[in-house]
Amino acid sequence: MPRKNFFITTAIDYVNDKPHIGHALEKIQADVLARYHRQIGDNVFFLSGADENSLKNVRSAEKEGIKVEDLVKKNSGRFYKLKEVFNLSYDDFIRTTSEKHKNGAQKIWQACKKDIYKKRYKGLYCVGCEAFYKEEELENGLCPEHKTKPELVEEEDYFFNLSKYQNRMKEIIKNDQVKIIPESRKNEVLSFINSGLSDFCISRSAARAHGWGIDVPGDSSQKIWVWFDALSNYINALGYADNGKKFNEFWQGENKKVIHVIGKGILRFHAIYWLAMLISAGLKLPDEIFVHGYITVDRYKMSKSIGNVIDPFELAEKYDPEAIRYFLLREFSPIEDGDFSYNRFEERYNSDLASGLGNLVARVLTMAEKLKPEIEKGTAKEPTNQGFKKIISFLWEKRKNSLENFKFNDSLSAIWELVSFSDKYIEKNKTWQESNRQAEHIVNLLIALANIAEMIKPFLPKTSEKIFGQLGVKFEEEIWNFKINKGKPLFPRL
Ligand SMILES: [Zn+2]
Repeated sequence: MPRKNFFITTAIDYVNDKPHIGHALEKIQADVLARYHRQIGDNVFFLSGADENSLKNVRSAEKEGIKVEDLVKKNSGRFYKLKEVFNLSYDDFIRTTSEKHKNGAQKIWQACKKDIYKKRYKGLYCVGCEAFYKEEELENGLCPEHKTKPELVEEEDYFFNLSKYQNRMKEIIKNDQVKIIPESRKNEVLSFINSGLSDFCISRSAARAHGWGIDVPGDSSQKIWVWFDALSNYINALGYADNGKKFNEFWQGENKKVIHVIGKGILRFHAIYWLAMLISAGLKLPDEIFVHGYITVDRYKMSKSIGNVIDPFELAEKYDPEAIRYFLLREFSPIEDGDFSYNRFEERYNSDLASGLGNLVARVLTMAEKLKPEIEKGTAKEPTNQGFKKIISFLWEKRKNSLENFKFNDSLSAIWELVSFSDKYIEKNKTWQESNRQAEHIVNLLIALANIAEMIKPFLPKTSEKIFGQLGVKFEEEIWNFKINKGKPLFPRL
């Protein structure tokens, strides 16, 4: 198969606050996809970033009594730190205050010019969402996302002629030209389109923006409104402003796939506004938009005011970050909201990682060490046992299908079927007892471990590396000569 140019993005977060565990979830999900596509040989570009032009930053900086530039720099750093702590394999982290982003945002504005006009406007504005709401979209007069009362704003702004794209948008979403996953979110977008698309505001007065943000080309009394600005980060990171090589490779190219990973709160902006902007600018569309669920704590959305925010860095100080990756991917439905609890975390850790994978690796390697000379002369890559052979090829397929459908939890549970198959094999064949087939049994188990290590690579990259280190083989080698080197337990019991 030819290598595909595969571009995966996360949402760029508002940096006016600290990241919570939900931010980590999204970045880890996208990281798994990026690593998986690298594993199958695709040419991958993985992007994350920070949305620094939001009005919220101005307000936070005012509250803290510091310059906005300093606030966003400090706060973006906290989001960037997720990369280090959770071993995220971003190829780039774009800040919307960077030159390449500013130039790109202004370029796409120019490219959409035929659909842009100015009008006097009065509307209900939620600063949290950076969006105007219609009266009927509010819940009891409050923003459905933030449960806060929107402000009444009146000024002369630029608008984008979205209504013109009503039918086109409907076709694109209905026919999966841009596929929205899951189906329920696709239907949500369709019903929003069917309710009638209105033109949307794409600028605000420089005065209301406190001078913060990107100038509207040719009109410095106006700043580009945050969504029109922020959404273009995806192509700006690839060098849209200078029509760069990466832009032509990963966005405009023929053999490409673009996937946006986002939360449900920003679905409309991605599935409607962004696509309409791209059409207007004469650019290609992304291929898929994957919408993940939220992590709740005691059934509530995390928020500072409730005081139930799970800090991913505090969590990573207490527990192995690989175990946190595992828990977030395995415990929650990728598309539904899921409730976080420390109890569940520790239960899963002990059952799946300590007693499950960790124990299996330790057990097999202990047996292998005793028969080192006999085992290390073996050169098998396929198990001699038919049951093993079958389940390994079946699970590779199952993992692939689940991963390509964003079912991270199902792919992990498929891999863990091989863990429990191996445990049963040990019991059934009493592989710890001396017999003339003992070495053969152990080699079969080592082969299973090598397959597990390769399968978990996108999910638990460091654990995968540790297992291969203990086995002394590389998965891509034609012939395996195990060099047994039993290490420390992978996941000590809590
Ligand atoms: Zn809101």
